[in-house]
Parts: sequence; C-alpha cells; structure tokens
Amino acid sequence: MTRDRYDVVVVGAGATGSATAWALARRGRRVLLLDRAEEPPAHGRDVVRPGHADVARCHLALLSHQWWNVLEHEAGERLVEPTGCVEHGPVEALRPLVETLLVTSVPFEYLTGPEAEQRWPGMRFDDRAVVQPAAGVADVAATHAALRRQAVSHGADLALGADVRRVEVLDDGARVHVDAGDHVDASVVVVCAGAASAAVLEGVVDLPPAQVVRETRLRADHVEALSSTARPWPAFVHRADPVAHRSARGELGPDAGYPALRVRGEPTAQGVELAHRTAPAPLGSDPAAEDGVAADLLAYAAQCLPGVTLDGAEPSVAERAAGPLVLDRVGRVVVGLGTGVHGVALAPGIGQVLADLAEDGLGVPRQVGADEDELDRSRFSLAALATSV
Ligand SMILES: Cc1cc2nc3c(=O)[nH]c(=O)nc-3n(C[C@H](O)[C@H](O)[C@H](O)COP(=O)(O)OP(=O)(O)OC[C@H]3O[C@@H](n4cnc5c(N)ncnc54)[C@H](O)[C@@H]3O)c2cc1C
Repeated sequence: MTRDRYDVVVVGAGATGSATAWALARRGRRVLLLDRAEEPPAHGRDVVRPGHADVARCHLALLSHQWWNVLEHEAGERLVEPTGCVEHGPVEALRPLVETLLVTSVPFEYLTGPEAEQRWPGMRFDDRAVVQPAAGVADVAATHAALRRQAVSHGADLALGADVRRVEVLDDGARVHVDAGDHVDASVVVVCAGAASAAVLEGVVDLPPAQVVRETRLRADHVEALSSTARPWPAFVHRADPVAHRSARGELGPDAGYPALRVRGEPTAQGVELAHRTAPAPLGSDPAAEDGVAADLLAYAAQCLPGVTLDGAEPSVAERAAGPLVLDRVGRVVVGLGTGVHGVALAPGIGQVLADLAEDGLGVPRQVGADEDELDRSRFSLAALATSV
C-alpha cells in the first residue's frame, strides 16, 4: 500500500464507498478506496425509482437519478433497465407517496386497479396503483463494477485485501490503520464499511448497533402471460395493508384472498422475482421466525400473479444490513451508513452527499446544485438519529 498522504481515504468499496470515491475523484481530489475483500460482494437487482413517500429520501432519489445518468454515460453501458414501477395498495396506503410525488413534481400516473390490470394482463392489482414511468431495475453487480471502475478512471487508487482495523484522528487529519501494522494518512476519512463501521470507528464516533432484515426471494424464470403480451411487466411494490383494505371495503368486509405480505416484484428477462423483507431486527436474531415467508410468497403468486408458477422454485434468503440512513461528518471523519436495505438505488446520490461532506472537512467551499439545495441533510445526521432513538 502506498504511504502517500491522500486528501480522502474511503474505507469500504461497496456501492456507497465506490460512489463516494467516484464523486471525489471526479472533483479532482486525491482518493484512496480500500476494501478488505478481494472480490466485490454485490449481486442481484434493485428497483430504482425517483419518487418515495419520505420527502428527504425522495430528494436523495432525485439527486441519484441525475447521477445514474452520468454514470451510465461514463460507463458506456445501461445499468438500469427502464421497466417503470407500479406501487399499488389501498388508497390510504398510497396517500403519503402520492402527496410527496405532488410536492416534489415527480412524474406519475394514478390508476384504479382495473385500469392497471388492463394495461398489464396477468397481474392483479389492489385498489389503486401509482405508476412511475421513470423507474427501472438496476443490475447490482454491474453498477458496483462501474462505480469502482469510474472512480479509478478519474484517478482514485484502489487497494483490495486491505482490512482496516481502526481510524485514529490526528491534529490535521486522520490515520487509517490497516492489517499487518500498516497505515495510511489522509486529511479526511470516509467510512462506508456497512455493519463493520461501528468497530472501525470505535472510540472515534459512536454508532448505533447493527440491525439486519431478512429478504426471502422466489424466482419464476418463465411466465406465460409475458410471452403472450407485447407489454413487459413493470417492477412493482404491493403495499398490502389489511387494515386500510378492510376499512375501504366497509360493509362488504375484507376480501378473503387479501395478501398477508408486502411484496416487491422485479421483472427478469422472461419472468419475475418476488421478494419480501422482514422488519429490522438486531444482528444475530433467530432466522427460524421467517420459515413461513416462502409459503406466503407462493400463496401471493397464486392469488395476485395467476400466470406465474413458482412451484419448485428454491427460495433464497439473505440477510442485509438495516437501520436508519446516516450521512454525516464528525470533524475529519465522514460516515455513510444504513444503506444496506436501500441497495444500490440511492448510491450515486449518496456518493455526492458524502463527497460534499468530505470536502467540507477539507475546507473546500460548497458548489451546491439546484437539487442538492432541496435536500434536507439534517434528516440523515447523527443528531437526528440520537433524537429518534
Ligand atoms: C447477501 C446480500 C444480498 C444483497 N442483495 C442485494 C440485492 O439484491 N439488491 C441490492 O440492491 N442490494 C443487495 N444487497 C445490498 C448491497 O450489496 C449493499 O449492502 C448496498 O448496496 C449498500 O452498499 P454499501 O457500500 O453501503 O455496503 P456494503 O455493500 O456492505 O459494503 C461495505 C464494504 O465494506 C467492506 N469492509 C467492511 N469492513 C471493512 C474493513 N474493516 N476494512 C476494509 N473494508 C471493509 C466490505 O468488504 C464491503 O465491501 C445485498 C447485500 C447482501 C449482504
């Protein structure tokens, strides 16, 4: 490892760290991107949509949207397949999303369930559907590789197999201690090491204990309904909400087949992948509690996607880091945490925000773009975290 002093050392070359190194290197900073792993861990797909119910996250997604375009242009490849995304559910379950889309001017269509069913034969929809045509599905591995490659092509150094043990704050910067007693100095350190961040920053910044969600996925490789229609299916999020469903049906009473789960669907080449995530739980909690989820996903497909055969499909279950999104700076140390459940969708925008924070630490005056002006960064601060606990 080089012993030169860097402007910024980024610890963790996942999607977040790579996006941060890309942003900083593009701005002409001397950057070192470190990861203990030799191979990128990321895989799978992620729904990328500009509109979210939460206003602050929506602004982050809009910022990301711009940078997805820049990344695809620079990388010379399509990373997000433009599928559109439909979020559907009872009226009440969609209200926060619709309100935010209206105030943020994100383009969307509002359909009734039957209108959506006419548009996408083979899918059954809840009471109302919100369509975001600008949404798509990202290839996680390709995105991760593109972010790293672009960081390096803009001049960042990349060191893989470098296990960071701790960060030490110096008078004029920070020292990153790497395995085998080696170290590297920088004016600012950005830590995006996922669940390992708290250990790396022990004694420097207090971070909340890691949490995880369990994501169960089932995949149907061939869907008959898709071969008989010219219109591919969109990505979807079914905001199933039994309480809102029951109250909307009034005297009719709840529909017996109403799904038990919130389900996400991501189109594949000729099929679809269904996913369900549990609520966040402390790291190491009992996975047995999730046994019924695969069966519920099968029941969901039978009820809401009648052309989809998932029988025989092996569920894949993965643990992903969870917890609130934290993008903040404490002196010479910047942290980017809680990105695990958001996947890569927000990474290009988060990289810009973390690069801004690192430049604040370097004393570089901010050049803030119009969309960044809208972003309420205080929502992602450590102080906001302390008040929400
Ligand atoms: C099993 C699994 C399945 C997933 N599936 C999907 C999916 O389908 N779609 C999706 O969008 N996302 C998926 N993700 C999430 C995604 O990979 C990332 O978690 C997310 O993109 C956030 O990235 P990140 O860079 O913040 O964190 P991470 O991807 O967790 O990256 C953190 C990096 O820090 C490195 N690191 C940790 N400790 C140290 C240390 N001490 N020294 C040096 N380096 C260190 C790690 O090696 C890692 O590369 C999945 C994650 C997991 C674990």
